[in-house]
Amino acid sequence: MDTMQAVWLENGELTYRRDAPIPRVPPGEALVKIRRAGICSTDLELVKGYYPFTGIPGHEFVGDIVDCPDRPERVGQRVVGEINAPCGICTACVSGRPRHCPHRTVLGIVNRNGAFAEYLTLPTGNLIRVPDAVSDAAAVFVEPLAAALQIQQQNPIRPTDRVLVLGAGRLGQLIAQAITGTGCALQVAARHPVQRRLLERRQIPWIDEAQVRQRYYDIVIDATGTAAGFDAARRAVRPAGTIVVKSTYKGELGIDLSALVVDEITVVGSRCGPFAPALRLLEKGIVDPTFLMADLYPLSNAAAAFNRAKEPGVLKVVFVPYG
Ligand SMILES: [Zn+2]
Ligand SMILES: [Zn+2]
Repeated sequence: MDTMQAVWLENGELTYRRDAPIPRVPPGEALVKIRRAGICSTDLELVKGYYPFTGIPGHEFVGDIVDCPDRPERVGQRVVGEINAPCGICTACVSGRPRHCPHRTVLGIVNRNGAFAEYLTLPTGNLIRVPDAVSDAAAVFVEPLAAALQIQQQNPIRPTDRVLVLGAGRLGQLIAQAITGTGCALQVAARHPVQRRLLERRQIPWIDEAQVRQRYYDIVIDATGTAAGFDAARRAVRPAGTIVVKSTYKGELGIDLSALVVDEITVVGSRCGPFAPALRLLEKGIVDPTFLMADLYPLSNAAAAFNRAKEPGVLKVVFVPYG
């Protein structure tokens, strides 16, 4: 009885296993029983080979602490988890940049089994209690919402800024919701009717890609997940403006670097963000991600779940290991 169900990724192939070992709890870590785990574009790119990963993918989850040797009083807490597990002693770590620790493991992405399973382990300090007012359906979005908030963490958005979000998929929707509160003049370039309807529900203005104005926006956020997104962002940003890149994908990009120099464009790469503010926004209902949910799947249906997540315009596909 020490095996579990899991989704296994190896050489670009996903398989469903019933015989994965339940992870042992290393010192300083806790065992979490997964309630829900979301598929994001990074997972789809991992399958394509964006980063060479063998093991259990998945990094967006909500679950319960079931074993916690160093903090037994935390057993029973419902938690979400910061996905980067830093070494704690290198220069990056002691300088307050643990998410850039070169020795870090990353849940379901770098040298650490992830959330598409019945159980996972993470350092106890990575696990943050979910307030009772935040449902499982909302809590599974904390990691991508934190990633959306990282944009404002790195790059303040002024009420007078013209901001364009390119891409209205899973992440683009969260970014748009998180940014509306700044009062900026926000537009979202949305391709699919379902994405446009979701934006309308939150009174967020969308435009067609063909309506994007050239050299106009102070800040352009690329959440397309494609190489074409950067090119579109480059055309839309005004001289001396900022492009925030949220897309990670396999492959490289041709850039006219001189044009960036002449126009003095700032390019900001933006990855993971702060969990506690994301939980606050969910608890107060300022961001409501629950209607971004597309479908729930059991782990045994992993192939179908991934295929569904790949369909254009599809929003969040979520695994429920315990039905
Ligand atoms: Zn993700
Ligand atoms: Zn470190």
